[in-house]
Amino acid sequence: MIRNYRDLTRLEMEQINKEETIILIPVGALEQHGNHAPLGTDDMIAEAMVEYLGQALEEAGEHNFPILAFPVIPIGLSTEHRNFCGSVTLQPDTYYHLLYDISTSLARHGFRKLAFLVCHGGNTPIVQILSRELRSQLGISPFILSSGAFSHPDVQATLTEGNIYDFHGGEMETSMVMAVNPALVKLETAEAGIPTPFVGNQTLKTAGSVTIGWISEDWKTADGKPIGIGGDPSGATAEKGNIILKTSAKVLVEGLLEIRDWQA
Ligand SMILES: [Zn+2]
Repeated sequence: MIRNYRDLTRLEMEQINKEETIILIPVGALEQHGNHAPLGTDDMIAEAMVEYLGQALEEAGEHNFPILAFPVIPIGLSTEHRNFCGSVTLQPDTYYHLLYDISTSLARHGFRKLAFLVCHGGNTPIVQILSRELRSQLGISPFILSSGAFSHPDVQATLTEGNIYDFHGGEMETSMVMAVNPALVKLETAEAGIPTPFVGNQTLKTAGSVTIGWISEDWKTADGKPIGIGGDPSGATAEKGNIILKTSAKVLVEGLLEIRDWQA
């Protein structure tokens, strides 16, 4: 189990070793995840990941690992989803300053190691920019952790054959939510999405050497309706989600051990 930052008293916080303790800051989002998955999908995955990380640390024999879990930041940069019902986004500069102010507060108390657990890909660019600023301005060590090991072979093996565009709100992400709370997923309403404008392109893609500021309307159903999710969630199960969360936690624990040993 990982202790929560908010559970400590001031006296307990005064006694924490600030040099070595890693503050794990999960950065979530409140945004559409298709017809079928909850708006708070990324926050739910963030909370689950903190739990799974705690278990993985125990399994690795790390019973006193120096880490505190900061409350999940529940809203992030969801520009690409803003036109779909229910999505809430900060402006890029607001989000930068929110995370900057949290980070400098932590640094003021002496914490040196901040680990941003990114649970929504749209947050990544801001977290990257912020991390460089914090490191160069304050000399602290900001680390960036990605919550899902989606390219790991054990995770890829959970995918239904032919589901090649799996991405936001797809089978993997939906499975993770089902592992946490299956009642919140309405699979019977799920539709499959493909990045229609890019299909067949050799070079202009959603990622790679030639790209565009894509928005989630670029993901459409086979008959051309924008649905804002990538892949086919219909094969999602809680069992698959458990495998994805466990595998991702294992990968992250390897990273956390190296973060613990990191000397700035
Ligand atoms: Zn998501």
